[in-house]
Amino acid sequence: MLGLMQQWPLLCHKIIDFAARQHGHREIVSRSVEGPVVRTTYAALHKRARQVAQRLERDGFVAGDRIATLAWNSARHMECWYGAMGMGGVYHTLNPRLFPHQIAWIMNDAEDKLIFVDLTFMPLIEKIAPGVPSLKKIVVLTDAAHMPETALPNVVPYEEWIAEADGDFVWREFEENTAAGMCYTSGTTGEPKGVVYSHRSNVLHAMMAAMPDAMGISSRDVVLPVVPMFHANAWGLAQSAPMVGAKMVMPGGKMDGASIYELLETEKVTFSAAVPTIWLMLLQYLEETGKELPHLTRVVIGGSACPRVITQKFRENYGVEVIHAWGMTEMSPLGSLCSLKPEVQDLSGDALFDIKQKQGFAPFGVEMKVTDDENGERPWDGKTFGRLKVRGPAVARSYYRGAGAEQFDEDGWFDTGDVAHIDANGYMQITDRAKDVIKSGGEWISTIELENVAVGHPEVAEAAAIGLPHPKWDERPLLVVVRKPDKTVGKEEILSYMEGKVAKWWLPDDVVFVDEIPHTAAGKILKTKLREQFKDHHLPTA
Ligand code: ADP
Repeated sequence: MLGLMQQWPLLCHKIIDFAARQHGHREIVSRSVEGPVVRTTYAALHKRARQVAQRLERDGFVAGDRIATLAWNSARHMECWYGAMGMGGVYHTLNPRLFPHQIAWIMNDAEDKLIFVDLTFMPLIEKIAPGVPSLKKIVVLTDAAHMPETALPNVVPYEEWIAEADGDFVWREFEENTAAGMCYTSGTTGEPKGVVYSHRSNVLHAMMAAMPDAMGISSRDVVLPVVPMFHANAWGLAQSAPMVGAKMVMPGGKMDGASIYELLETEKVTFSAAVPTIWLMLLQYLEETGKELPHLTRVVIGGSACPRVITQKFRENYGVEVIHAWGMTEMSPLGSLCSLKPEVQDLSGDALFDIKQKQGFAPFGVEMKVTDDENGERPWDGKTFGRLKVRGPAVARSYYRGAGAEQFDEDGWFDTGDVAHIDANGYMQITDRAKDVIKSGGEWISTIELENVAVGHPEVAEAAAIGLPHPKWDERPLLVVVRKPDKTVGKEEILSYMEGKVAKWWLPDDVVFVDEIPHTAAGKILKTKLREQFKDHHLPTA
């Protein structure tokens, strides 16, 4: 027997229809690339998104075409997303922090037809475009007055381009599993792989993200996504904020402490989201200036492990709750968030921060398990770690063109490549990436934990742990350390500092000092490069 309820396909443009109808006057404030802070509303954004859709069709673009963006967070960038999706196109965010040849590779793999580019990235697209034959048009997100000189063909200013359409456009109809967006993984471990979101997965993800134990945002919030739209969909905020009718504040390209603070203050931001480095910059700025955060109540922090000191300072000095989150491009991207269940909400002091240090529990729509190498499920005891696997309606079931097939199993579980444990209350904690974990005598050593402990030393600026081959134990840890300026800390001091803070057999077999540790475009430690750099290093214990 079938239910007798209506078919109402979950399509992304219904989100912006809703925002325009129910929250039409709500503002979207953007720091423009041209300079000034500019303001628009959901009603106006809705109309301009339809102008984008109309203009795309008039230029001959059709459903299924990949419409790339190389842009900061702004209302214009959102118009391009909704306009492209509403005519059946597929928005494709590009990460400008990658090397030009990597971006060109990705654009060719996706066969992008048109690109929306911020002024900032004109020099970049000038390098890339000639090597991308599928590209027919470049729309610069500015007006004619600000257009730069360029030798590239088919380049037009956005404002004049959409002004040729009146916005009298009816969204195209298609079914909810139609592709809506694309984003490539950053390729830290091999070629980048394309993830293709559907309308249905984006809508469901936006609902999951907004729920009270996830980001918990509402129309009373003022939301500042510092996390870029090109970094895993701004963690869904370009969809969940309009879905709940929250005012949005878009930082454009300026993400230093002073610029972010200015927006937090003048726009009375209540909720924000970004990677740890952004918050370290903001906290440093607050400490230097003695300024306060009277409006901000919650920040979501993820992308890499959030150091305890950030959570602690936000809470104790500024009354701001940190929600630690974990996810990945393949998961749209949210996988878990660390809200407090009743079982832990009354904890205080270190016990509370121990919980907040975890990446949290999976919301409805994400199933999670940890397994051993033979795919046997491991217990939820908060210490037995294994491969973290997930499934759900906003988790990839395949990469574009079938790349990376070994990460998807027959039961529909996706192997995240992360190593984690889950406690009895369902709180998951990442201990490593599977490729980085050190396998010593059949047991696993968490490099993240070694690094966290090492950076607690007052003279250590950054630390990275890698496994080196060992004749007896298979692998043993080497700790690579960057000292703080003018500091002289040595190997023995670091090892004795770490003693007692990790299991004895986890202690690194050697410590080396370097001026710099290599990072990926997303700011994560590039372990592949470090392993290459130290492949001939001789451990004193070997
Ligand atoms: P990439 O996989 O190319 O680095 P993503 O931005 O999708 O790009 O990153 C996802 C990965 O980032 C996760 O698999 C995990 O290893 C790491 N990560 C994300 N959030 C956290 C977190 N809160 N703590 C630790 N690691 C995290």
